Amino acid sequence: MTIRRALLVLLAALVLLAAVLVVRTLQFTPAPQPQQPRQTVAVDAQQVAAHLAEAIRFRTVSYGEAERIDYDQFGAFIQWLGQTYPKVHQVLSRTPINQYTQLYRWQGTDPSLAPVLLSAHFDVVPVDPGSEALWQHPPFAGVVADGQVWGRGALDDKGSVVSLMESLTLLIDQGFSPKRTILVALTHDEEIGSRHGAQAVVAKLKADGIKPAWSLDEGSFILDGVVPGVTQKVASINVAEKGFLTLELVARAQGGHSSMPPRETAVGILAKALVKLQDHPVPGGLDGLSAEMYGTLARNMGFGKRLLFANRWLFDPLITGALEAMPSGNALLRTTTAPTMLSGSVKANVLPIEAVGTVNFRLHPRDSAESVVAYVKEQIQDPRVEVKVTDSMDASRVSSADTDGFKALAQASQQSYGQLVVTPGLTLGATDSRFYDNWADNAYRFTPMVLRADEIPLFHGTNERVRIDNLAGAVSFYTLLLTHSCGG
Ligand SMILES: [Zn+2]
Repeated sequence: MTIRRALLVLLAALVLLAAVLVVRTLQFTPAPQPQQPRQTVAVDAQQVAAHLAEAIRFRTVSYGEAERIDYDQFGAFIQWLGQTYPKVHQVLSRTPINQYTQLYRWQGTDPSLAPVLLSAHFDVVPVDPGSEALWQHPPFAGVVADGQVWGRGALDDKGSVVSLMESLTLLIDQGFSPKRTILVALTHDEEIGSRHGAQAVVAKLKADGIKPAWSLDEGSFILDGVVPGVTQKVASINVAEKGFLTLELVARAQGGHSSMPPRETAVGILAKALVKLQDHPVPGGLDGLSAEMYGTLARNMGFGKRLLFANRWLFDPLITGALEAMPSGNALLRTTTAPTMLSGSVKANVLPIEAVGTVNFRLHPRDSAESVVAYVKEQIQDPRVEVKVTDSMDASRVSSADTDGFKALAQASQQSYGQLVVTPGLTLGATDSRFYDNWADNAYRFTPMVLRADEIPLFHGTNERVRIDNLAGAVSFYTLLLTHSCGG
């Protein structure tokens, strides 16, 4: 009897638990979004494509070795901008910064409104030597074929440069006059650190006392089939970006001939330290921005996944474990650890006096370079291993997703592309926004184009290209965005 009663109580408890889980899941649905009817902007997509093809033909390549950069190409590109977009150059003022970066300003009529800053870069990365033959169309030929524009910079980031200039031209043609001042920065050294481009733009704005309400630059896309479990397109408007930290671990030991080695050589000491770091990743988890992002995304997933996310109080270890198992999920949860370079003795039979391992960390906004160095030392706990910082930059601030600027970005996306899941997100690499972030009230990282999973390798890759419907969408997006957030 008592066993039967106990079983009944257990069964009742399980039924109750199941009911709680299911009810919570059924309530865990997307927040109601204001319906954004699609708006059509009359974009001549073929002309935009033809202009982008022309832009690609300028070899505005950023090389790490400054002497290899062909600045004549940069100068010619800027001349081309003037010839191709004469109205923009008549109506907006233009300030060259360090000669090649161009800062345009469309003066608003209401000086009480803080300006907005839109930015894109026209330098591109080199083509991998030896990969030229793999390109279906030569990387600097600027070919329009199969509904796409082919060439280096098509996606990153000349497509945005051209779309911005096209939308400014459209607005001028419509007789638009901004109430809020519009700033547009076209920068020339994003791929090599932005010292003379975005950094100088911020210095100039600071000197002039011009503080933007928000900035918009590259850093994410409208993701199509990229987020596991979400079938809708996801506009990830990123509000922060990770930083980085590069450490050299230097292990020291006695040198000598390898025929009579000590129990541990410098290589062995270093290897142990590296294994400790690999086995003890920097702590992370689903909180802050990552929690907000997955909170939004999971509401659009199937019942099973929604069940988990709706009941995090019970399933958090399961969710975190599943995300950590995917490199892309793990990178959103924590500061990542990647040992990348190793060196030891110069000869097979010589014991190394020192062995050096390089470890590259990508800093989550919750960690600082300093806190990660402290964590690394605590894990290694070996006085024979010196920890040297060779390079670092902290993660950005986290901009607010609860602003008129963010809402305007979301609205213009939906008006241009139809219904989307909109979420704030985290950019894993470094962009020019890390500088804008220091000055604008909020910095957003988002290119208004749809990106499919198979298009991700095109960045800095072979056969870089952009779909023409994305160019039309981007022109529409910028036009609607500026109309609504800067118009009367
Ligand atoms: Zn870029």
